[in-house]
Amino acid sequence: MSEPDPGLTGGCLCGAVRFSYSGPLGGELGAVTVCHCAQCRRAQGYAAAVAPALARGFVVLRGRGEIGEYESSPGKWRGFCRSCGSPLYSRRDARPDDLRLRLGAVDAAPPGLKVEAHIFTAGAPAWSFGDDAPRYAWFEPGRQPAAGAGG
Ligand SMILES: [Zn+2]
Repeated sequence: MSEPDPGLTGGCLCGAVRFSYSGPLGGELGAVTVCHCAQCRRAQGYAAAVAPALARGFVVLRGRGEIGEYESSPGKWRGFCRSCGSPLYSRRDARPDDLRLRLGAVDAAPPGLKVEAHIFTAGAPAWSFGDDAPRYAWFEPGRQPAAGAGG
């Protein structure tokens, strides 16, 4: 488990929402997972890296009114930025003390955090596993960099 880190901050793509998190992340709260379920694929573009966290450690620094929540299953809410759509967390009514942070929203994940499992792979598309495609730190060769980054 990562040590509590009062300096952990994050936010959405457009910057309307900023948050901090203090407390344990992953570890004894539960595994850091990459979820491949159909809901995460639709909500987040593809698999989501998710870390269990404590709701009391999550502080919205800016943009509380920009956070929308979508009830993707009964009692399960996915928090996102209303302006840019960035996924921020999920929570369940039945577990008010817990959040599941979307690690993509974290500015710099604390050291020691690692993926412990890929879950809901049963419905994952065939292209998503087992590829040995080359990895590039920037664009793939031959692609012209454009304004913005990635995607
Ligand atoms: Zn935003």
